[in-house]
Amino acid sequence: MTTPIDLRSDTVTKPSQQMRAAMAQADVDDDVIDIDPTVDRLQKKIAQLTGKEAALFVPSGTMSNQIGLRIHCRSGDEFICESQCHIYSYEQGAYASLSGLAVQLLPGEDGVLDPSQFIGTIKADNEHFCRTKLVCLENTHNRGGGRILPYDGVAEICHWAHDNGLATHLDGARLFNAVAASGIPAAQWAQHFDTVSICFSKGLGAPVGSALCGTTEMIAFARRHRKMLGGGMRQAGIIAAGALFALEHNLEQLHIDNQNAQQLAQTIRETEGLQLAGDRADTNIVMFDVSSRVGSPSALVAELESQNVRCLALGPTRVRLVTHLDVSNTQIDQACEILNQIVTNALTNDRKLTGSGAQY
Ligand SMILES: *Cc1c(COP(=O)(O)O)cnc(C)c1O
Repeated sequence: MTTPIDLRSDTVTKPSQQMRAAMAQADVDDDVIDIDPTVDRLQKKIAQLTGKEAALFVPSGTMSNQIGLRIHCRSGDEFICESQCHIYSYEQGAYASLSGLAVQLLPGEDGVLDPSQFIGTIKADNEHFCRTKLVCLENTHNRGGGRILPYDGVAEICHWAHDNGLATHLDGARLFNAVAASGIPAAQWAQHFDTVSICFSKGLGAPVGSALCGTTEMIAFARRHRKMLGGGMRQAGIIAAGALFALEHNLEQLHIDNQNAQQLAQTIRETEGLQLAGDRADTNIVMFDVSSRVGSPSALVAELESQNVRCLALGPTRVRLVTHLDVSNTQIDQACEILNQIVTNALTNDRKLTGSGAQY
């Protein structure tokens, strides 16, 4: 059995031998009673990279975002975000259940909002309404197919927010993929936001963890709320060492993931019956739609799986491929060939791929 080419997510990476060695050798201490020295180093490093005063290591991107929301909003307040963003789509409505927040959704195009869409979104100071407090953006945008938000648009939206007394939070789970592709440093993106969340367990290849970055005061508040949410971790230096290793060794290779995604995107463009979503792949996520003449996305995913290529069906026509540290360029060549062959066979032999009523 050959190793599967796993393009389901960039979270599937396993720590390398060198990363494991760094983790095994990490200096540790109780990070709840005191400060774990390795966690401390990681927090300082990510704060420096994002140009913020301080950072907090947390178990997941979800916790990081949810604490971010609590920094800026109280129960009964409202935040504004794009309608397909992770905070709204994939965090179980935690903003409501954990923090009592309301959300105002703005529909983006592949995750991108135009600054003009924000005009008129702040509710009047009137006892009928909740208080609009925060704007959240996501860069790169996951459900938007790894889209890099246009830099000038981000700056304009955040200036508008601050001019109008709103705070700004960036879900930068894959900010470093945007950095690698755009050449714009993390701190330059981050300067527009009061708080920034970064994931180490995505393209950076660490096994666990995210960081929330902001002012010293915000991060002190975040530390209290991390404990309340059950995220106080004792000898967390063991996992922080993996994240630190990732920042020291894996930032440089992110452009390779982006290049591999370009190659998948090109194969999709050249394969009749497939349509590349938004006709582009900015970073390491590639989304495409499957023509009904080819069949259902879930049947295509099952056929790919039987030929050792793993990916996810994300909607009634949509499939997602994600490149990462643990897929080589040779495997990308293979995946391109297998995908093209399956789809071309289905079309030319009129053997439509059918089956399985999937849920997305
Ligand atoms: C993965 C992801 C998160 C959350 O990360 P978890 O560690 O899985 O909780 C947040 N935002 C975006 C855009 C993500 O892709």
